[in-house]
Formats: sequence, C-alpha cells, structure tokens
Amino acid sequence: MATPSAKEVEDLQFEKCLGRGYFGEVWRAQLKKDRQLVAVKKVRMQLILENHLMDQLKREILILSSMQHERIVRLFFHFEDRHFMYLGMEFCQGGSLFDKLQKAERFDAPVAARYFYETCEALDYLHHLPEKVIHRDIKPENILLTADDSVKLADFGWANLLEAEKRVTFCGTLDYLAPEMIKGTGHDESVDMWTMGVLLYELLTGQSPFGSSSKETTCKSILTVNLYFPPELDIDGRNLISQLCRKAPVDRLKVRDAMAHSFITRHLQTEQGDAAGYPEAKGAVVKGVTETGDMSPSRPSVVARKLRAECERSLVEKEIYMKALKDAENKLKIKQEELKSAEAQINEVQQESKLLEAQRKDLEKRTKENASKIEAIKKRRERKGWNPFGRSKTGL
Ligand code: ADP
Ligand code: MG
Repeated sequence: MATPSAKEVEDLQFEKCLGRGYFGEVWRAQLKKDRQLVAVKKVRMQLILENHLMDQLKREILILSSMQHERIVRLFFHFEDRHFMYLGMEFCQGGSLFDKLQKAERFDAPVAARYFYETCEALDYLHHLPEKVIHRDIKPENILLTADDSVKLADFGWANLLEAEKRVTFCGTLDYLAPEMIKGTGHDESVDMWTMGVLLYELLTGQSPFGSSSKETTCKSILTVNLYFPPELDIDGRNLISQLCRKAPVDRLKVRDAMAHSFITRHLQTEQGDAAGYPEAKGAVVKGVTETGDMSPSRPSVVARKLRAECERSLVEKEIYMKALKDAENKLKIKQEELKSAEAQINEVQQESKLLEAQRKDLEKRTKENASKIEAIKKRRERKGWNPFGRSKTGL
C-alpha cells in the first residue's frame, strides 16, 4: 500500500483522541482518499511560537522523517495551518506500554525483559546513526505497541527541544530525569541508558524508583541514586538496573551491553524460546551491586506518577487560560473606555449641532421678520408714490 500522505486537514477524518501531551493532542485519523489509518499529532502553533521552537521543530521533523527502523514509529507527513502543526505517524494499534502496565500493574520478568530488549533495539539504531540521536524521553507513555505487541518507540524530538526546567513545566514530572539533566551539566546518549534503568524498574515493580510527593525529594533521590529494591525483585534484575542508574554517565552500561545482560538474555529465552532470534545468555547470573538505598518501601506507583504529571500539566494549562482570560478582560476594558470617550465626543457634537440648529432657526426667523418688514416698508412707500427701486411716477 502507498505511503500515507495528507496535505491539509480536509484530507483527514479525525476519529478519536488517543492521548494528550506537552504541546497538543494525538488523534487516530483516517485518510479520506484510501481509508488508511494514521495517528496525527496536533502541535499547538502558539506554544511553538511562544517558545521559539519553530526552527528546531522543523529540523527535528527532517530527522524523524528520514528514520526507518521497525522499532521506531514512522513519520509519514506533516503540514500546518494557522493553529496547529500536524504530524502524520504510523498508527500503533496496541496503544502505549503505559496503558498495558497500568492494567497489568507489573510485568513478569520475561515480559519486561522483552519490552526492554525491543526498546534497546530502537536505541541501538539511534545511538549508532552517523549523526547520533538521543531520545531523552524514554518512559512507558512514549513506547507504543503494534497489534502483535511489539515495541515502537515514539515521541522523540519534543522533549529534546526543551530545557530541563521547561520540560518539567510541560511534562509535569522529574521522575525520569538523569542526574546530569537536573544539574544541567551537559549530556550524551548515556542519558537514555539511565532512563532505561528507570523504565526496567517501573516495568518490574509498577513503581517509580525516584518518585515522591515533592520535587525536592525526587531530585535528592536522583542525585544520590537512592534506589530501593522490593524483596521480590531478583538479584539479576537489581544488578542490571544498578548498572544503568549510575550517577556518572561513563559508568553506565551501553545499549549493547544492556541487551546482552544475563537478566535479559535468560528471560528472553524463557518467553520466546531459542527460535525467536534473541541472543543467548552470556555466562552465569551476575552477582554484583544491589543497592538498596534507604530501605523505604514507599515508592509511588507508575499510575500515581502519570496522574501527578497530568495534574501539573492541567495547572499549567489553567494558568495559560487564566492569562488569556486576563488579557481579554484588559482588552475589553480598553475598548469600553474607548467606547465611553467616543460616546462623550458624540454627545458633545450633538450638543453643538443642537446649538447650531437653534441659531439657524433664530436666523431664519429673523430673516423672515426682516423680509416682512422690508415688504411693509415697500408697500408704505408705494402708497406714498415713492419707488426706491426705480424712477417716481411723477417723473422726478
Ligand atoms: P506527547 O508529545 O504529547 O507526549 P506522544 O507521542 O507521547 O505525545 O503521544 C501521547 C499519547 O498518544 C501516547 O502516550 C499514546 O497513548 C498516544 N499515541 C501517540 N502516538 C501514537 C501512535 N502513533 N499510535 C497510537 N497511539 C499513539
Ligand atoms: Mg509523550
């Protein structure tokens, strides 16, 4: 089938809102011409312009549309109108990994290992491109699933455009930020490996490893790598997470090392068997570091993390609307004042024209009176035989 393409909103039939994010909404849509299903991200122009992101956004679109990998959501087309930039993507029928995790609460190790491995395949491609691409926003919400439950990495290029502080404003959560992102000391692709550690923790436990009810505590936990592992998490899984969530970026496992870690290879074979083409386990279970942090078992659930993020995002949106409302009220006030002063001017002009009208009437009356006086004088003179306008009857 031909690659889906659309040039304007009229080419699309929007069917259902699939999700909302930093800059806008994602819709399932059908191409009117050949009924193909696509996912269309509508990015609000106003936010792009307000944040001066247009140039970066266009560059990002160029990179995205050139990427072709089975673990990465394809970008088929893009166009814009006055209000939105529209990005037409491959539609992933299985929804997001977040929705699946929410239903399952947590995944068994073989299932988590497969999602982890497939996400690593996407990162392996991105990190080894001639012009390396860093995703920077890996989390279950941005990992989509096809109808046959395999991973497609989505939503990159967006968070990349924002500085850490703005990112938190827009996505409402710090929980996935690597220490170097919080400190703003610069970063490379190993930032994605930190977030892969956070992802694996969430998939296996259903909880957010550094989440807490306050931003300060979350920051502190991230900066001190305060990892707590629930007792049911096996030692091999703890080892992999610990080797990914290392404070120093250079100490983190690289993507290919993570894919070859015994936790992954062992469980992949449990889930798929040897025929699936996944690598064989290298050596025995690694028994190494198992950081246990402060032993506090009270990590918030992944669902709580998302709700908190949504709540913060609603607050930001509310602020934007309140500001727009205030601006509109101010404009209304100015217009009302303009209207008042215009009314006063009209009043003044009306008074003036009333006065002029009275003067005109008075003048008219006086002219009439004068005309009748002249008439009377004329008549009187005529009676006396004097014509002021011609020769007299007597010939004088
Ligand atoms: P944002 O930048 O707004 O976070 P995402 O690309 O993460 O945008 O999309 C938000 C949500 O929309 C996702 O979590 C997912 O539920 C849904 N979604 C996005 N893209 C697709 C797609 N291609 N197919 C199906 N659902 C999608
Ligand atoms: Mg997203």
